[in-house]
Amino acid sequence: MAIEKSDHIIEQTNAYGAHNYHPLPVVIAEAEGVWVKDPEGNKYMDMLSAYSALNQGHRHPKIIQALKEQADKVTLTSRAFHNDQLGPWTKRVAELTGKDKVLPMNTGVEAVETAIKAARRWAYEVKGVEENKAEIIAAKGNFHGRTLNAVSLSNDPGATKHYGPFVPGIKKVAYGNVEVIREAITPNTAAMIIEPIQGEAGIIIPPEGYLQAVRDLCTENDILFIADEVQTGFARTGKMFACEWENVVPDIYVMGKAMGGGVFPVSAIAADKDIMDVFTPGSHGSTFGGNPLACAVSLAAIEVIEEENLVKKSLELGEYFTTALRAIDNDDLTAIRARGLFIGVEFNHPVRKYCEQLKEAGVLCKETHENTIRFAPPLVITKEELDWAIEKINYVLSKEKP
Ligand code: PMP
Repeated sequence: MAIEKSDHIIEQTNAYGAHNYHPLPVVIAEAEGVWVKDPEGNKYMDMLSAYSALNQGHRHPKIIQALKEQADKVTLTSRAFHNDQLGPWTKRVAELTGKDKVLPMNTGVEAVETAIKAARRWAYEVKGVEENKAEIIAAKGNFHGRTLNAVSLSNDPGATKHYGPFVPGIKKVAYGNVEVIREAITPNTAAMIIEPIQGEAGIIIPPEGYLQAVRDLCTENDILFIADEVQTGFARTGKMFACEWENVVPDIYVMGKAMGGGVFPVSAIAADKDIMDVFTPGSHGSTFGGNPLACAVSLAAIEVIEEENLVKKSLELGEYFTTALRAIDNDDLTAIRARGLFIGVEFNHPVRKYCEQLKEAGVLCKETHENTIRFAPPLVITKEELDWAIEKINYVLSKEKP
């Protein structure tokens, strides 16, 4: 019987897979654009976009075509040799970020690691900090990934419990407060790493002027401003990068997720020569980073964002969606935080039940922390598709059912 197929897959995954996630009970077997299907053929709208890795939608034809064409030529060379896709791709990403140079990795957290390593090396070799004394300042509530260096930046008990000892030389300050950064700075401070909008924390938008003040503070104190745009980058917030909301240019861009169009893992950092030149042959790298398949896919993924005006679309549909959400009649709803199609809806109670009910209604989304639902559909969503979802969301989230 059809339903048993999904149940069986879930059972199998639970039996043989590690339990390091708590997924909604839905199995995705096919996908196209904003839509996904389970093995029984039930259709759902994806309102999570793989945590903003699918900004271009599922299986965008142009990106899939680039993948197929490249797969027929060469897929992996390692960096022991040059490959014909790496040059054009680094040039494209350099142009996009306005930076001199690009260093490719695969996942977001590897790009975070790369940025931290770049900052430390820069502190010793350019700033003149004494060996092993470099400090990094991070903002509480952050999510920079799951490696030991990244969780060393975190203050989330769920992400850090029993993983110590942690990487030393890290200071954690409140997000959104410039004064605490000023107090944390010492002559050994190498960098401040920050998400321009905190994603996993629940779409936390810092107070206006914060990013600009951090930028100024970093410049005044000869500290690198590292912007983790892994989740906010590539049009998600209604700008190509969320730092643009305050016209701020970081020293190091950290990118991932939608950089690979949801088709291939692609991440990178971009920075100017004075920083990137601290890397010398043998000092850092990755077997898969900058592979031809990744570069070809990422070039297509960037082109899709530009050709389909996804920055503008995210901004306009984000405003439309947010207006609709604000009209929901539910006095347990305590806050709506939004920039483009990057939206957090907070309640004064856990929202898992809502996510399950939305799934039953055909809309897939996920709680971030207990009390916030994140809505982040693929940016290729049409207004008609969004209207369809709004109707379902309105029904599920309204206290009195219309
Ligand atoms: N930085 C930020 C801001 C993120 O949101 C994430 C993933 N949610 C990461 C880094 C880590 O990316 P990945 O899971 O690809 O390692």
